[in-house]
Amino acid sequence: MKIKAYVVHEANGPYLLEDVELDEPKAGEVLVRNVATGICHTDEFGRSQGVPIPLPLVLGHEGAGIVERVGTGVEDLKPGDHVGITYAFDNSCDACKHGEPYYCENFNPINFGGVATTDGTTRLHQDGRDVSMFFGQSSFATHSVAAAASVAKVDDDIDLGLVAPLGCGVQTGAGAVINAGQADPSSQVAVFGCGAVGMSAIMGAAVVDCKTIIAVGGNPKSLELARELGATHTINRREVEDIAGEIRRITGRGADISVDTSGNGNMMLNAIRGLKFHGTFLPVAAAGSLEHFEVGADIMMPMRTMRGTCEGESNPKQFIPQMVKWYKEGRFPIDRILSFYDFKDIDQALRDSHDGKIIKAVLRISWSCHEVMAPGRDADNDVGSGLVRSGVPGPFL
Ligand SMILES: [Zn+2]
Ligand SMILES: [Zn+2]
Repeated sequence: MKIKAYVVHEANGPYLLEDVELDEPKAGEVLVRNVATGICHTDEFGRSQGVPIPLPLVLGHEGAGIVERVGTGVEDLKPGDHVGITYAFDNSCDACKHGEPYYCENFNPINFGGVATTDGTTRLHQDGRDVSMFFGQSSFATHSVAAAASVAKVDDDIDLGLVAPLGCGVQTGAGAVINAGQADPSSQVAVFGCGAVGMSAIMGAAVVDCKTIIAVGGNPKSLELARELGATHTINRREVEDIAGEIRRITGRGADISVDTSGNGNMMLNAIRGLKFHGTFLPVAAAGSLEHFEVGADIMMPMRTMRGTCEGESNPKQFIPQMVKWYKEGRFPIDRILSFYDFKDIDQALRDSHDGKIIKAVLRISWSCHEVMAPGRDADNDVGSGLVRSGVPGPFL
């Protein structure tokens, strides 16, 4: 079928809204009409070819929408279901078979290899050429075909604009604290960075009633919001020289868990040094420069653990509906960190993210948007003409 999708043709090239051919769902796959998609930093990483995904490419990996068709063998989803789409996994390696798809041995080749989960080929084509997929979904598009295993059913009455970011950014932060960190009410947690993932980590710590939740950031407004989302203490990294010492002072003996979402070597060092004896450091950011990140003595003698964690170690079919439930109970206010844009305004959304005006952008792909973009309806409309260009160079911070 013919769909509209933002295609990237060159490294750091613009997002061009173009006609793309989408295959029908194969066995184990579903076709989703996207209603919203979040924008995550990893999309910009893909656009800049930080990971060399074959071009052309359709990015987007936080899709949410309504199931239109299902392939053979799909039993838990049906047309009309409201769903969120998350990361891809092969559903066949030892980790996946053990119910731990976030440890999938093929996570990288599937999510960053440009192909669908199920058979190693792409569902997207243009002018007779293959177009790469991203995270097995490519949600910067009116429709996605994705593996049913990566598609989580949610309640019909939840705004799908709120569901979209749960599939990556929000679960990455909240899940780092809840699933990877196994935080509980006795836990003292320090979160470095107050972007979408950091705020989600704070909300995750709050929803499991962590005793102490320390937000470390450099923007007073963000730190204020962090408090409203559940942080019990805040540290302005621009004002406090010894951040690790301040964390130890607040907690008494050091944090049980620290999460870094900044990717900054100095912050990561403070995240480790602020831990208690035997505490756990969870870096979730793709780190840039790790200058000064010399941690031997800080890890070994205090018997601390440092381990990477990805996608919040989320079992998506359980964790995504769980986050929706918490939101409905008023305990997980994701709406506070989201800003919504029309699908055609992707460039504005990226600019506002880049300028720090917003925390997390979500694009809404409305019914009218689908109609406007129906082939032949209005070729002069800038939405449908393929002339929407991005003025934002990637990657952004
Ligand atoms: Zn696997
Ligand atoms: Zn992401």
